[in-house]
Amino acid sequence: MSTSSTLRCALLAAALSASVPAFATPQQGSGVAWDIVEGITTEIGPRMAGSPAEGRARAWGAEKLKALGFQNVKVEEFKTLAWTRGPESARLTAPYAQPLAITALGFSVPTPKGGLKAEMVYFPTLAALEAVPEGSLKGKVAFIDHAMRAAQDGSGYGPYGNVRRQGPTIASRKGAAAVVIRSAGTDSHRNPHTGVTIFAKDVKPIPAGAVSNPDADLIARTAARGKPLAIDLTLEGKPFPDAPSGNVIADLPGRDPSLPIIVLACHLDSWDLGTGAVDDASGCAIVTAAALAAQKDGQALRTIRVLWSGNEEMGIGGGGGAHYAKLHGSEPHAVAMESDFGADNVWAAKFSASPADKPLVDKVKAALWPMGITPHEGPADGGADVEAIIKAQDLAVIDLGQDGMHYFDLHHTPDDTLDKVDPAALQQNVDAWTAVLKVIANEPGVIGKAGAK
Ligand code: ZN
Ligand code: ZN
Repeated sequence: MSTSSTLRCALLAAALSASVPAFATPQQGSGVAWDIVEGITTEIGPRMAGSPAEGRARAWGAEKLKALGFQNVKVEEFKTLAWTRGPESARLTAPYAQPLAITALGFSVPTPKGGLKAEMVYFPTLAALEAVPEGSLKGKVAFIDHAMRAAQDGSGYGPYGNVRRQGPTIASRKGAAAVVIRSAGTDSHRNPHTGVTIFAKDVKPIPAGAVSNPDADLIARTAARGKPLAIDLTLEGKPFPDAPSGNVIADLPGRDPSLPIIVLACHLDSWDLGTGAVDDASGCAIVTAAALAAQKDGQALRTIRVLWSGNEEMGIGGGGGAHYAKLHGSEPHAVAMESDFGADNVWAAKFSASPADKPLVDKVKAALWPMGITPHEGPADGGADVEAIIKAQDLAVIDLGQDGMHYFDLHHTPDDTLDKVDPAALQQNVDAWTAVLKVIANEPGVIGKAGAK
């Protein structure tokens, strides 16, 4: 190599090293909402219901809410049935040996010591599994496929999420020794999606896991060859009773404390594979930042309460939302809202209110139109953390629907991390919630279906 070409190489190397940073610069936001998501994901991380980490998250939340100026900050603990993950692995052993990316579903029971080696039967849909006779899968593993696709309103999670919620119970009824499903997710990463399954009381719980979408594609292609499938499955996670969980609640008292309050919910617990940034640290960040921003032009008329709920993920029927209604069901509430669908832009609004609330609903719609957020057919249902209080008091409900095209790419996976939160979209959520709160928290009249009776 000549001296001049050596020099050219050195210059080129210098130019390249100047253009490539030593490490990636993380996406950085600012403001109350960003600080909450960044803080929970950095200082706590994964926080499974009933785990010591969820306890640390409650302490973190209480301290944060006090520091932000909230009053009556309370940690309200309860005991819950929880679940802990164990070692997990799977591989196809016939007709082709292939490793599979798998994760256990919450409330799965462990496979036998040394793993379960069994024939695996492919079902293209939940309906196909339902159609086989009871007892026909004795000693076998059921694999349930499905065709969940991304939808802007996330509505595919209803029908296709049933594969996770109900599939294991149905497989157990058919006699299956274990069940594997295609993840309830819309990404093409090799990330399985966890999430809870609830075994019906009259069935024996069985080991239950989900494989990533590319692995489910592989199983489907292999099944199409028509040769028998076999799997070697290890899932050691198991349930445990009487675990500590709890809610954190905090108020921004209104000018008239006698008026029914507004409750804004999110959930503090998360699955363990990621750090629970979009599900649901973002929700807690959005509602909390908006409650504060709504006071910017002066103290609101009504008290706004935030509920950072415990055990939403595994507490179906008895989690933080139920505990909140048990403790606070006698305090008059006017409106309930919840944020639990990530941090992408709000685009749709839905309402459940009495006919007498129409003028108020029209005011809220008018506040959202300039942001490009349009009213959609109801009903609004709030979410798991406010379901019990809505039922108890027949509350008015407003849903601010976020863009769900990417939510189920990340949901309950290792990809649910801070870098997926777009600071600008997070702020758009805060602005939308603030616009709604400025209207409803300053409404002097009666709000809600119960009040209209
Ligand atoms: Zn959630
Ligand atoms: Zn979740």
